[in-house]
Amino acid sequence: MSPSDFRKKREKAGGKKTPPLFFSFSRLTLYEECPQKYKFKYVDKIPEKPKPYFAFGHSIHSALEFLYKVKSPPFPSLREVLDFFEKDWNKISWIEKGYSTEEKHMQDFIEGKRMIEAYYKKHMGKFTVPFLLEYTTDVEVDGLKVRIVADKIDYTGEGKIIITDYKTGKDIKRSPEQLYMYQKICELDEALKEKVRNIYGEKVEKIRAEQMLFYHIPSLTEHKFERASSEEIRKFWSRVLNVSERIRQEKFEPNPGEFQCKFCDFRQYCPIFANEEYIPQERKVKSTELEEAAKKFLEISEKQKKIEEEVEILKSKLVKLFKKEQIQSFSVEGKEIKLVRRDKWVFDDREEIIKILKENNLYNRVSRPLMKEILNLINDSTLPNSIRRKISDKGKKTEIWNFEIE
Ligand code: SF4
Repeated sequence: MSPSDFRKKREKAGGKKTPPLFFSFSRLTLYEECPQKYKFKYVDKIPEKPKPYFAFGHSIHSALEFLYKVKSPPFPSLREVLDFFEKDWNKISWIEKGYSTEEKHMQDFIEGKRMIEAYYKKHMGKFTVPFLLEYTTDVEVDGLKVRIVADKIDYTGEGKIIITDYKTGKDIKRSPEQLYMYQKICELDEALKEKVRNIYGEKVEKIRAEQMLFYHIPSLTEHKFERASSEEIRKFWSRVLNVSERIRQEKFEPNPGEFQCKFCDFRQYCPIFANEEYIPQERKVKSTELEEAAKKFLEISEKQKKIEEEVEILKSKLVKLFKKEQIQSFSVEGKEIKLVRRDKWVFDDREEIIKILKENNLYNRVSRPLMKEILNLINDSTLPNSIRRKISDKGKKTEIWNFEIE
């Protein structure tokens, strides 16, 4: 459906004014990844777990905002920017940011400082005061209220702007689609014209996004995109309208996939995994009984670990003493301790062994499927499901639960 089709459809619906649907580029990509996930996040508003990369990106963005947020030069020194970064970084704890260990938090802090220093040194002497920083605007268009947050906008006169988006993740490759959204919305944004008038005293008829760039901070790489053509914007906008129409129609079917499901915080609610016995990693549970049992378990496990270590030390001491005394057994406190030897073999070149066995017609005497290999086959997603099921149907599964202590 094209933008004009949507317009006609809404006009035909007439009279009743439906409130605009809140929209953004991230909502678009999330819906396209999995509509069900979109529903969990934006309709049901189920909170997701904190992600360290968001906290990391936020602190880097804040430091760059601090660097450029001056009315006129001089810009803050590198020391001042790094101090700001450190202060921002320590505002919330590593646990609240979602880090698994304090060490990883510290590694990211060091990496963040490195990135800021490298960025500062590369551009030192060429900093210019931007038009806008972290510019957030909501523009109503085609029944949507579209939000964009532009990290940096520079003004080059006569209504022309350059939009910069900072990236702090690993992925260097970028597609210009996010920038299509920025171009479309900035050019419709009345507030932006007002800001040009207030800051530069220039009354402009329209805003024109001349260039958009992604700046990948970890590699100090710029990806420039020239202004998109009307055709590119039209195609992109049709995509936006198709997705928003599906959201309005409450089409939230799950779209399972290895990547998106693996990192999905909503698995325990997802119909795709409804028949799987899914256990959330961690959930805030208030139970004194559980807490006491967990503490006791930790305490005894610690003791068990120590005892096992002591047993190992005593075992090797006893072996030495048995050998020295040249005895095979020893009786103490009515019990007999026997020294038993078991040989442990390792064959590194398995292929060579198989060759020898085959050459000597001995292979049939040893080849039998090993449990570990059968399980590998059952879990091998590259094999057809029918074969995996055929194998698993022949087995019996019993659940053995254990705990690991980290
Ligand atoms: S688990 Fe997979 S299918 Fe279910 S909501 Fe998440 S991404 Fe979508």
